[in-house]
Amino acid sequence: MRWTPGDRGNIEDNRGRSGGGIAGLGIGGFLILLVLSWATGTNLFSLLGTETPSSTPGSVGTSGEVKTSPAEEKMVDFVDAVTGDAQKTWARILGNRYQPTHVVLFRDAIQSACGSAESATGPFYCPGDQKVYLDLGFFGELSQRFGAPGDFAQAYVITHEIGHHVQNLLGYTDRVRGSRSGANSASVALELQADCFAGVWGHAASQQGRFQAGGVELEPGDAEEALRAAAAIGDDRLQRMSAGRVMPDRFTHGSSAQRVEWFQPGMESGDPRACDTFGTTTR
Ligand SMILES: [Zn+2]
Repeated sequence: MRWTPGDRGNIEDNRGRSGGGIAGLGIGGFLILLVLSWATGTNLFSLLGTETPSSTPGSVGTSGEVKTSPAEEKMVDFVDAVTGDAQKTWARILGNRYQPTHVVLFRDAIQSACGSAESATGPFYCPGDQKVYLDLGFFGELSQRFGAPGDFAQAYVITHEIGHHVQNLLGYTDRVRGSRSGANSASVALELQADCFAGVWGHAASQQGRFQAGGVELEPGDAEEALRAAAAIGDDRLQRMSAGRVMPDRFTHGSSAQRVEWFQPGMESGDPRACDTFGTTTR
């Protein structure tokens, strides 16, 4: 992907404010739970009864100081660039029905209008305050443990969450209230539509000349990265990794095949009307 750092106007940087950590798990176990919780929509930390202590050696304190690295700062610029580009894309498609959002960066734990969240929740969108929440640690796991490296895999995660924002603006989010899990549930339909909306942005970003115009532009191979990410975090694959078997009645995001299947029409058409997952999957 080709992109240019901007002014971080799409970011709310709360990395220095969150503090805390999860004791006893170690950073590896912590990150595995983070990814699995995001992908399954379940806070696995709460299942473990894990406490959030006030501090962890090596973590950022509550002083507001951010302990960071050049690589992490580049990642912040990347999240900002992709978010800004995706927002411009949706504003173009939806006109004044689109309202801007922000990505709140945090570490370990954060307060949102949806309650207090730990990184365990993974990247998420809170309809209550209309913001996306992201712990950058998620990208490392996506690459290393789940075999989905690359910047477009990361962009897929970001634009999937922005897809949830679009769904909220368009009224799709309300359809899943009280919905159960399961391969044909409204919850899975919502997630697959967010995958498709990520593809809609991917289509826009694949147009030539965007980088020259100050935007984000895909390079050859990028679309494959996103498909690999979609396949890597399907419910069936994650269940096989964590439980050793597949339980379709517990699907919340869709199988690997479904996630790939719904990313593609968005990516190919660039048209959100190609993303009617509710009509197809809730028969
Ligand atoms: Zn989602």
